[in-house]
Amino acid sequence: MTERRRAGYEKKKARATREKGLLIVYTGEGKGKTTAAMGMVLRAVGHDMPVGVVQFIKGAMDSAERRVLSALPQVRFHAIGDGFTWLTQDREGDMATAREAWGVAREMILDPDLALVVLDELNVILKYGYLDLDEILAVLAERPPMKHVVVTGRHAPAALVEAADLVSEIRRVKHPFKEQGVKAQAGIEF
Ligand code: ATP
Ligand code: MG
Repeated sequence: MTERRRAGYEKKKARATREKGLLIVYTGEGKGKTTAAMGMVLRAVGHDMPVGVVQFIKGAMDSAERRVLSALPQVRFHAIGDGFTWLTQDREGDMATAREAWGVAREMILDPDLALVVLDELNVILKYGYLDLDEILAVLAERPPMKHVVVTGRHAPAALVEAADLVSEIRRVKHPFKEQGVKAQAGIEF
């Protein structure tokens, strides 16, 4: 870092004195969105902060992360019911499941006892139009001031990006599944 850049950085750091609950979005086509959110859960738990996790689509979290997280006293974990697979072609059933998960998420977002709430793959649910984005934005706006919320999933809606404080878009540069035909491996994908 040059002398000038360091001075600029120090100035910004001195000015950044505020704390607030952040709305964080991890989106994009590359791998790393859910695991980034789980990394934050790990940090929060390390500070003994109570955390809520709602999984909107069945994925790796259903087995590995769920096993670890639901054993922790600081974590409230909600996984969606068995019916939700994306293979059922049962739009009504999937919507009902999404609404049920949203009910749990809503409670967690408004609960002042939880410091961090992760809404895993909510973006994908919104993309499918299974939940009402305006309702979600309204609840997020009502959350306690120090509450952090992380939303993951491809195709984050523009209005959510607009409302967020921190947005990272993960770009795929290489992925071994597409480029080398390597299958999903334990510890990496699930
Ligand atoms: P992770 O849970 O590993 O952090 P993610 O949340 O960013 O991944 P999702 O969009 O939830 O990714 O996709 C779920 C699965 O699809 C992951 O196992 C991931 O490795 C895989 N995946 C992600 N990006 C790609 C890609 N560009 N091509 C093929 N598979 C991918
Ligand atoms: Mg994911």
